[in-house]
Amino acid sequence: MSAFLLDGRAIAADLRAGLQTRVAQHLAAGRRAPALAVVLVGQNPASAVYVASKVKQTTEIGMVSIEHRLPDNVTEAELLALINRLNRDAAVDGILVQLPLPPAIRAEAILAAVDPDKDVDGFHPVNAGRLATGAPGFVPCTPRGAMVLIRAAQRVLTGGEGLSGLDAVVVGRSTIVGKPMAQLLLAADCTVTIAHSKTRDLAALCRRADILVAAIGRPMALGAAHVKPGAIIIDVGINRIAPGDKTRLVGDCDFAAMQPIAGAITPVPGGVGPMTIACLLENTLEGYERRMG
Ligand code: NDP
Repeated sequence: MSAFLLDGRAIAADLRAGLQTRVAQHLAAGRRAPALAVVLVGQNPASAVYVASKVKQTTEIGMVSIEHRLPDNVTEAELLALINRLNRDAAVDGILVQLPLPPAIRAEAILAAVDPDKDVDGFHPVNAGRLATGAPGFVPCTPRGAMVLIRAAQRVLTGGEGLSGLDAVVVGRSTIVGKPMAQLLLAADCTVTIAHSKTRDLAALCRRADILVAAIGRPMALGAAHVKPGAIIIDVGINRIAPGDKTRLVGDCDFAAMQPIAGAITPVPGGVGPMTIACLLENTLEGYERRMG
């Protein structure tokens, strides 16, 4: 038996189609379009690719994309001034500052300057607090997308979406993926364990997991020894490796080794990755709907 393949591209396309319909309804009711401002500093090629993809998908569903491209040598004060302008602009619903920022700029200071009610990445400490306390706010896009995939897997495996009582292990404790992922699983009534680089006997821990989320950043760090038969495996990792003279993307999971044992598994690429931008658009639309009342 081989695990059900969680097709993030198809699920993200369905999500975007639903968002496009909602945007069209707002426009038909005579309201302005939701708008996402994207701030890109410097020439990082990977960041440029991500931003281009975000801009394209934003406009495709009928939302407005506002791009601010700044040179590498922009100062922290200049960047803060831009963020403050966007915070005050009533026609901007979401502000996304593409990371990484140049070393001379303190990323935490910039992220903390974004109005929490426009913080569609969900990185502001206020939104982290809202998530931890169960208050409405913005949830970071990657864990939000991973949750959609987990529920889709549960539907396929059991016919229902409920996750209550399941054992979930999240490997990785970053503030943008691991910790919010754990909060979302906890809110869904899972029994959650967070593992990290100091965890003892990671394989034994992972083998207890009905839901295993890998957010490590190490190519194929988890394999057959980490899978409980029938488990849902969500591979958040995106690692570029160069076998021979070709580079290719692999996740944190050894897909070929885990697929025969798992119940459902995400591929890399084409799993969690596409969900991230779709959830960014969903966050922006929800922010707009809250702001428009
Ligand atoms: P970080 O580097 O911030 O965190 C990695 C975490 O993994 C840390 O908590 C670290 O532990 C833990 N870790 C490292 N090595 C091990 C190990 N051998 N065993 C157990 N735990 C380990 O990474 P991110 O959370 O930002 O990203 C994780 C991965 O997800 C990356 O590959 C990244 O590219 C990808 N990613 C994908 C996205 C998407 O859209 N699909 C979006 C964001 C990230 P410790 O805290 O002890 O150091």
